Amino acid sequence: MGTICNISLDEGSSESIYTGAFNLLSDIDTNLSRTKEGSLIYTLNKEGHVTIENDDYFNLIVRSFELAQTTEGAFDPSIGKAVALWGIGTEDERIPSQEELDAVNDDYTQVVIDTEKHTITIPKGMEVDLGAIGKGYATDKLIAYFAENGVTRGIINLGGNVYVIGSKDEGTPWKIGLQKPFDQRGDSFVLLSLSDTAVVTSGAYERYFEKDGTIYCHILDPKTLYPAQTDIQSSTIIGPDATLCDALSTTCFILGKEKALALLDTAFPEVSALFLLSDNSIATTPQFPYAYQEIAP
Ligand code: AMP
Ligand code: MG
Repeated sequence: MGTICNISLDEGSSESIYTGAFNLLSDIDTNLSRTKEGSLIYTLNKEGHVTIENDDYFNLIVRSFELAQTTEGAFDPSIGKAVALWGIGTEDERIPSQEELDAVNDDYTQVVIDTEKHTITIPKGMEVDLGAIGKGYATDKLIAYFAENGVTRGIINLGGNVYVIGSKDEGTPWKIGLQKPFDQRGDSFVLLSLSDTAVVTSGAYERYFEKDGTIYCHILDPKTLYPAQTDIQSSTIIGPDATLCDALSTTCFILGKEKALALLDTAFPEVSALFLLSDNSIATTPQFPYAYQEIAP
């Protein structure tokens, strides 16, 4: 998945539960990766067409394109070609020419999904990339697997996609630190008290390169196909559905504070958000229901 996946379960959890969990992750990666030859997404991007037998994978793609609509294209699963051109986080990272970007088709409304035949068809010049939602989806799959196997306590972290299972102790929530952008890994700006929920963070600092004093990050604005310019340094979404939280953390980062809060208010009242803004202040959704403690710089 191009990131570190960390799973900690209650003492006494068997080795086989961990093995099962990592097999599950590896299976999802094999099917959904944009770059792994033979994956469903790889095939779709190469052939322009794919039939997807597996209901879960098909439904994830359908949901991704529904979210593109709800977010008016800020969340854009058809942005794969631009992601590949920038290559951020790979050996080939670079600033693409305007000509190259102009040749990219990321008009997600041109994607044809046949829900009877389970087929997806994309036009020329387009590639699908589920990088902004796939780890959330994988988290939800893990949570279902752990529930089936009687796990009642633990923490999953798939590269910023965290899920806390149960509480730390009876009546004591887990404390989850949110990474200080561009600081040493593990340094937090806030500690959130949480139980049984997904908490997903996106930010430029997760993957970027620097050239001539400018930072180019891996989250692209579909309007320009350039790294998103935003007043949010770090965008955290909390809610029961990790797939949705993942898509929305990326989306809110792109939209910036005002548009993000408006979108959540009208379309996604079931989630809460905490943003670290460029002036280092914190903004949250109204009636933010979780206790949090700011850590002095
Ligand atoms: P995340 O780490 O969840 O915020 O997702 C970032 C990843 O999503 C990037 O590395 C790209 O693979 C992909 N991506 C970049 N820009 C967008 C966008 N506007 N909409 C959807 N996916 C994107
Ligand atoms: Mg995301």
